[in-house]
Amino acid sequence: MTPDGAVVALGRAILCTVTIEPDLEVVCPRCGAATTARFYGPCDTCRDELRATLGGEGHLVEAVAYEPKMNVTPNSVAVKD
Ligand SMILES: [Zn+2]
Repeated sequence: MTPDGAVVALGRAILCTVTIEPDLEVVCPRCGAATTARFYGPCDTCRDELRATLGGEGHLVEAVAYEPKMNVTPNSVAVKD
């Protein structure tokens, strides 16, 4: 026999609503132009400019090979004769 409580818990739907905030009236911190955006920040024009001027190509970062520390003491149990 199935416990009723388990069935009810599994069958319960979780309802949630996501509200999308309406566009904010934003004054661009970079150029001072009034615009509307979902989040505070630079306006679209400034963002494009920043992307063009500051965005760089991805570059490889050299991985440093692991070098074991020399001050590590060997396991006394493993070394024991
Ligand atoms: Zn701007």
